[in-house]
Amino acid sequence: MNAFSTSENKYGVALVVSGASGSGKSTACGILREQEPELAFSISCTTRKPRAGEEHGREYWFVDDETFRKKIDAGEFLEYAEVHGCWYGTPRTQVENHLNQGKDVLLDVDIEGGRRLRQCSGSISFSTRSVDVFFAPPSLQELERRLRKRGTEEEVVIRRRLENARREMAAWREYQYLVINDDLMRAVRDLQTILQASRQRTAAYKRPPWEVNDESE
Ligand code: ADP
Ligand code: 5GP
Repeated sequence: MNAFSTSENKYGVALVVSGASGSGKSTACGILREQEPELAFSISCTTRKPRAGEEHGREYWFVDDETFRKKIDAGEFLEYAEVHGCWYGTPRTQVENHLNQGKDVLLDVDIEGGRRLRQCSGSISFSTRSVDVFFAPPSLQELERRLRKRGTEEEVVIRRRLENARREMAAWREYQYLVINDDLMRAVRDLQTILQASRQRTAAYKRPPWEVNDESE
């Protein structure tokens, strides 16, 4: 079989998306997942309570503090961080398996998570396999409007998220790419373009495809 047509000779790409709460990450990532059905989503563990409509094992694995602590101690997370007063962590094994099997994975993590993933070491060099995107609203006023419109948080939580937003948005230059979510569908297309280009990076190949092809002839 031709190596160009298989994922066997490739590593997957980890598409890491970060941005302030309310920027529209979940909405855009949800559409991206529909348009890229082969793209796996890294389902994080969190101690946050589920919002209406969220399902255990779909948006998140919802766990209590003690379970989360045990997972930290067992080294189950690729990274974890406290965000807006709750804990969030990326399960390690699933992400690493996907990448080694040539499957692309989408990760939605906060700024601290983005930093830790850049420094990650383990069975694979995560930073070599990943590409990171800062996902931003067109303005802070629009961010506030979206958070209020979503209506999933109480006023005190919205205030905390808005206070954190300024600090989070100051980190934009730490990321390789910037996507402005003004027009939602254009932002989704930008994510798609970044993913497609990343698949062609030399680091995505396990071996030069021509060597694999020559061997199989
Ligand atoms: P995040 O995951 O970054 O916290 P969400 O995806 O929950 O943000 O989006 C916050 C709110 O903004 C939601 O109500 C969503 O429908 C809305 N939204 C997302 N993108 C846009 C956009 N481009 N224009 C207007 N509203 C948007
Ligand atoms: P929310 O509670 O709105 O779903 O998410 C709050 C924040 O937690 C978002 O910035 C989101 O990117 C971040 N987050 C979600 N999962 C993880 C994770 O596994 N690790 C880290 N570090 N942040 C996460």
